[in-house]
Amino acid sequence: MDDILNQLPQRAKDTHKEHKKFFTKLKKKPPKHLDALMMELHEDEFSKTDCLTCANCCKTTSPIFTDKDIFRIAKHFRIKEQKFIENYLEVDEDNFHVLKSAPCTFLGADNSCMIYDVRPKACQEYPHTNRRNFHKISEITLKNVAICPATFNIVEAMRKRIDTGTNPKGPKERFTGR
Ligand code: SF4
Ligand code: SF4
Repeated sequence: MDDILNQLPQRAKDTHKEHKKFFTKLKKKPPKHLDALMMELHEDEFSKTDCLTCANCCKTTSPIFTDKDIFRIAKHFRIKEQKFIENYLEVDEDNFHVLKSAPCTFLGADNSCMIYDVRPKACQEYPHTNRRNFHKISEITLKNVAICPATFNIVEAMRKRIDTGTNPKGPKERFTGR
């Protein structure tokens, strides 16, 4: 997995233009079955992906902590919400609460999440590849392909399954080595 994660930013950079073009076309005319297809591609990719061997999202980016997340997690630690904010969070340029540091403070040595049951909603939903109207979050997806190998593979699979006129010419290798 280390090799894959090391190569991922460059692979994402190399394919960025093609991916951007694909999403621009997709947004103009999303297929009717897009939600069902995304569910299928997401399930397929994550049936082959062991996030515990990766954890690159938790190591490199911060989720947004909503007020509800902060309330829930502070309660879990039996501390006041303000104390939780002071200890772990800062406010980013978009005015969201995010972690002060990366990797995430709550990431265990074995890549497990120490607050799994109460983790932020953004962590529960990451990388959002099974959400409805997936074409509407292309900006964030274009960033996620450089962080998450599963997202990279899902976008490549989309390009093979949805004809926007920007599809890759031949089959591409899966980017996991699994
Ligand atoms: S809270 Fe848990 S799932 Fe979310 S970034 Fe931290 S370790 Fe990862
Ligand atoms: S970066 Fe993607 S594949 Fe890696 S742990 Fe996060 S969700 Fe799983």
